Amino acid sequence: MDDTKKNLLKSLPKIDEILLILEKDHVTDKAPREFIVKTCRHVVGRMRETILSSKKKGHGIPSVSSAEEAADEVKKTIEGLHTYSLRRVVNATGIILHTNLGRAPLCDEALERIVDISRGYSNLEFNLEEGKRGLRYDHVENILCALTGADDAMVVNNNAAAVLLALNTLSEGREAIVSRGELIEIGGEFRIPEVMEKSGATLREVGTTNRTHLPDYENAINDNTGLILKVHTSNFRIAGFTDAVELHALVELGKKYGIPVMNDLGSGCFVELSTYGLEEEPTVQDTLKAGPDVVTFSGDKLLGGPQAGIVLGKKDIVEKIKRNPLNRALRIDKLTLAALEATMKQYLNTEEALSCIKGLRSLTEPVATVEKKARKLLKLLQKSPLEGFLFSLKKGTSMSGGGSLPTQEIPTVLIAINSSRISASRLGERLRHLDTPIIARISDEEVLLDLRTIDESEFAIIENGLKASD
Ligand SMILES: *Cc1c(COP(=O)(O)O)cnc(C)c1O
Repeated sequence: MDDTKKNLLKSLPKIDEILLILEKDHVTDKAPREFIVKTCRHVVGRMRETILSSKKKGHGIPSVSSAEEAADEVKKTIEGLHTYSLRRVVNATGIILHTNLGRAPLCDEALERIVDISRGYSNLEFNLEEGKRGLRYDHVENILCALTGADDAMVVNNNAAAVLLALNTLSEGREAIVSRGELIEIGGEFRIPEVMEKSGATLREVGTTNRTHLPDYENAINDNTGLILKVHTSNFRIAGFTDAVELHALVELGKKYGIPVMNDLGSGCFVELSTYGLEEEPTVQDTLKAGPDVVTFSGDKLLGGPQAGIVLGKKDIVEKIKRNPLNRALRIDKLTLAALEATMKQYLNTEEALSCIKGLRSLTEPVATVEKKARKLLKLLQKSPLEGFLFSLKKGTSMSGGGSLPTQEIPTVLIAINSSRISASRLGERLRHLDTPIIARISDEEVLLDLRTIDESEFAIIENGLKASD
């Protein structure tokens, strides 16, 4: 090692020096001392690394940082502990059920129920009629059955859990037949073949990627067949020379051989979306009419509620699923249950559901309404004392997201922002770093705000955010 490096290393700030500064600034009161000391060591360690890894003399050798500079870095980390990491953001991307942005925003009633139920105690697992232990699913069972026509219902943590639990209950140690065209992967490592393996079921693939016929299923049936599984190809479509077996035909086949039939619906839509000019998405009600033994879907996709996995079906099958000990590890928590019950209530009246459930509202809002909203925001921004920005309206397309309606282009209106001072990517980054971050689209050197996923109540956040990013 050359002398320059040696000298630099010698002059690195001492931990005690840094701690003294932090004590004076009262930073030491803000976190456990051990953690502060560890952070100091980490910061000095990084400085040491920089020196050691720097190239030869005079070539990128860093000047050594002072104890004050080190203390500043430690302070940032400690202050970070006092700010929230999980924060609300403005979704200006136009992806309605954006999985990375928390999927479905909840309706107001769901929010109220969460606060009310979690502030104190609740009858989560207590039957008030009889004064004895009850089941947590009881709170949503009736409404789910009433809305869908199912015999029985239960709910778990998410749809991945629902699929795992149903597969484990119905086909552990046995074969489950699935079409090759339905061996899907959903973002975030959910792959049907892998979930199946974890459930203890053996995957029995039938048919081909583009075409599967009824005899393919029938020929695969043997003494060890536990289940026939149909999976909704939520997030992709295959076009051209294709064929899949309808659910009702699989139900007939299952009946003939005494094998249960399950349908993983993915999104679980309750509203006929084609009425609103959108692609056909099988509704839960129609799916159940075909007579499958069990249907599973998500709570926070097209349904627009909290993260949950909903299991509907025949009484004896759902009872079995409820009794599976694995269920204890996948169970739904009370906050989710409170929000889910409130969300389901909205569906008692479709109009109500379309106006209160934010995901559904964004999805079905006529483009003229989106445009009106866009004009209003444009006017607000143009009147606001924001210098160096140029705003304009643009037509574009939004997406459903959340593994639903994958080929649907939903017409929308965007506000394009051009800055005379900074690049679009730099502005996008600044918007992302605000206290209430704004997540925008960047395209062709412009920042784009898609009004389909922006609520009027967020206009002030956008205006202030732009002021702060100037
Ligand atoms: C989204 C999806 C899942 C996973 O649901 P989560 O609620 O995200 O766990 C499983 N199966 C299908 C078909 C899906 O579309």
